[in-house]
Amino acid sequence: MKTVAIVPAAGSGSRMNREVSKQYLSLAGKPLLVRTLEALEACPGVESLYVVVPSQDVVSVREELLPPWSLKKVAGVVPGGKERQDSVRAGIEAIARDADIVIVHDGARPLVTVDLVEGCIRAAAEGGAATAGVPVKDTVKEVAHGGQVLRTCDRGALWLTQTPQAFRREILERAHREASLDGFRGTDDTSLVERLGIPVRMVPGDYRNIKITTPEDLVIAEALFAARREAKG
Ligand code: C5P
Repeated sequence: MKTVAIVPAAGSGSRMNREVSKQYLSLAGKPLLVRTLEALEACPGVESLYVVVPSQDVVSVREELLPPWSLKKVAGVVPGGKERQDSVRAGIEAIARDADIVIVHDGARPLVTVDLVEGCIRAAAEGGAATAGVPVKDTVKEVAHGGQVLRTCDRGALWLTQTPQAFRREILERAHREASLDGFRGTDDTSLVERLGIPVRMVPGDYRNIKITTPEDLVIAEALFAARREAKG
């Protein structure tokens, strides 16, 4: 089964409060985006990667950011869109037509493991669509805009959704096509599949597979990389 990955990395990273976009910040000595691409390259099942970056960065990512790191599976650097969904759509249009399985993995999640990627690929090959996620640890409340607590959610049924998310290619393509026709906006790709009534499998993920969003996430990610290096000896 031919598997390709789309890596949306076209966000502005405004919650990082830094001048350099977050995907280019250094993490354990390499740009964050390179760390994520290396993690995906380590997966034997993933044949090629399509990186989606802000349109003004396409040339510099292709010619300056990526070449020093001898990445071997990057097949395309694609201009992204206004929202994440637009960027993934641009990735879908760029991928090889003969791909069977498509993984979508946030450029901002550099700590993903081979096991998790392969687990999602297997689940999608069997069931059509899958996402990594972890059970929530805290109690979750719904709160009104004014700050009034409305209700406490049943924690036992709640999972935080991560990427990778993996799909049979036709399912991902159809989900994006129909979302676009209906004007539906989702913050992940499996939500576009769920609304078509297609089942999505939850694959137990890893609490370390964090998304780098705010400055403290970078501190945590540095510590997690250091711990990983120590464990490897
Ligand atoms: O905004 P959010 O934190 O959900 O972003 C998740 C991933 O989607 C990040 O890697 C970000 O760069 C990417 N993204 C994108 N295009 C956008 C917005 C976000 O590729 N317009």
